[in-house]
Amino acid sequence: MTNHNRRTFIRRLILASCATLLPVSAFAVQGNELEEIRSYRNGSKAQLTLKLSQTPNYKVFTLKNPDRLVVDLHQTKNAYGFKSLNKLGLFKEVRWAMHHGDTLRLVFDLENHIAFSTTSVHKNTHNDELRIELTDSVVVQHKPVARKPEKRDILVVIDPGHGGKDPGATGKHGTHEKDVVLSIGRMLRQKLDRSHGFKVVMTRDKDVFIPLRERVIIAHKYKADVFVSVHADACDDRTVKGSSVYILSNKGATSVMARRLANRENNSDLIGGVSLNTKDNMLAKVLLDLSQTGTLQASTDLANTVISNLAKTEKILHKRVERAAFAVLKSPDIPSALVETAFISNPREEKKLRTKAFQNKIADALHDGIKRYCLESIPERNLIIS
Ligand SMILES: [Zn+2]
Repeated sequence: MTNHNRRTFIRRLILASCATLLPVSAFAVQGNELEEIRSYRNGSKAQLTLKLSQTPNYKVFTLKNPDRLVVDLHQTKNAYGFKSLNKLGLFKEVRWAMHHGDTLRLVFDLENHIAFSTTSVHKNTHNDELRIELTDSVVVQHKPVARKPEKRDILVVIDPGHGGKDPGATGKHGTHEKDVVLSIGRMLRQKLDRSHGFKVVMTRDKDVFIPLRERVIIAHKYKADVFVSVHADACDDRTVKGSSVYILSNKGATSVMARRLANRENNSDLIGGVSLNTKDNMLAKVLLDLSQTGTLQASTDLANTVISNLAKTEKILHKRVERAAFAVLKSPDIPSALVETAFISNPREEKKLRTKAFQNKIADALHDGIKRYCLESIPERNLIIS
């Protein structure tokens, strides 16, 4: 190539460059250019990335009915064909048009569960990116949704008081509380087993000593819906008679009698040579403070229905539910009641307590009381047929 030819070539090259550069520079004066759109998706997160020749001057907003995502790019021309754009289940269609002369408007017809989240601009060497973050609410909703409680058998824990080396109260004629209440407990189990919608666990099914705390642990282990402890009362005054139903009190007994009784029943562990662990008592108190209020109401409901059923056949000593600090009732989340069926210290009641007929009557009253309580207080989760 001669010098002249070289100069001509360079001049032509410059001209050619100018020729190709001119429209670009002319466009640059006019504004921005949408070069490409890319879509990403990962779980509930999704993103639309708009590649632009310059930093965008934009506005992103949504429209309802149907759900649309609108992207306004001011002073921007469209240089993108949309054919390579993958929808990824984020939108049905995308449309574009020039709006107010120099604004490129993109409209994405969003899928139902896709929601607009945020935008951000990222600067690259050769172009800028407008990133539009989207979320998929269907994927997000994988977190647990409150569902209707499942209908299932109601688990009743029957706790015949005392047992083994702890005979409980003993009547004038030598009747032990532990034997009478075990017999009533077994009858109650049989009646509940025959009713539809109940499952029964007994804290003891034989003449064995079980610490009070162990009885509570059993109730928790089986996730009891109802806990009923069965006892027979005793009093120095041998004329005192009748049935009573007690629930737990964390603020002391509602009567002197309730306090006396709680002391006596709680002594069961001392008889067995095991005192209640102080640490556990502290823990029990904390748990009680946290959650006993709601359960106390449930326990009151349970005790009231049991009382009214007992009242149909027996003289009731206390018309209202008595409260006392029974260790055996310290299940913060399980409605619990302690039933003193009759006074074993009263010779006439002792005689009655020994009969299958009376034991059956008490078991009937407890069965009906528990059933009515479940039907009225927890109707949403039982399968009981009334
Ligand atoms: Zn007792």
